[in-house]
Amino acid sequence: DEQQQFDLAEVVERAVRWVSQAARKDFKVRLDIPAPLMMIGSAGQMQQVMMNLVQNAWDATSTLGQPTLQISAEVDVASAQVCLRFEDNGPGIDPGNLAHVFDPFFTTKPVGQGTGLGLAISYGIIERHGGRLSAANASAGGAVFTACLPLAPLTP
Ligand code: ADP
Ligand code: MG
Repeated sequence: DEQQQFDLAEVVERAVRWVSQAARKDFKVRLDIPAPLMMIGSAGQMQQVMMNLVQNAWDATSTLGQPTLQISAEVDVASAQVCLRFEDNGPGIDPGNLAHVFDPFFTTKPVGQGTGLGLAISYGIIERHGGRLSAANASAGGAVFTACLPLAPLTP
């Protein structure tokens, strides 16, 4: 895929809009990230990652009365890195499954509803962009995915 400079914030916003259209109207996504967040790589692949993460959050929360996803960002200027944090208010990930969610074909969804490939593909895409993708559970109980990525050097 093509290497280009693109705004990661814009990519996240687009992914949220796309998934939200297919979700219920009351799926609340709180987006709190600074823009622009310029990085280098494939905007298309990065959009695939962000759509996977938002779709998984919707899948995990869709039966709740108040499905919520909070997306926040932490920029470290010194290391030219951003960490995007996706926290939902779903049931979280079974501790025994935390080590397996990035394995190809690992899914807890009913047959025909999950391929188990989303996170495996996302992990590889983030890695090829020089970043890291990790999974955990929040103290509040929901799942937290953190994607840390290098930012493009600032052009004067
Ligand atoms: P799929 O969505 O097709 O199941 P993924 O690779 O995207 O495949 O996710 C793998 C598994 O990781 C899911 O089946 C689920 O068990 C777990 N998972 C991913 N995201 C979440 C989340 N936000 N909350 C709870 N579990 C999750
Ligand atoms: Mg998925």
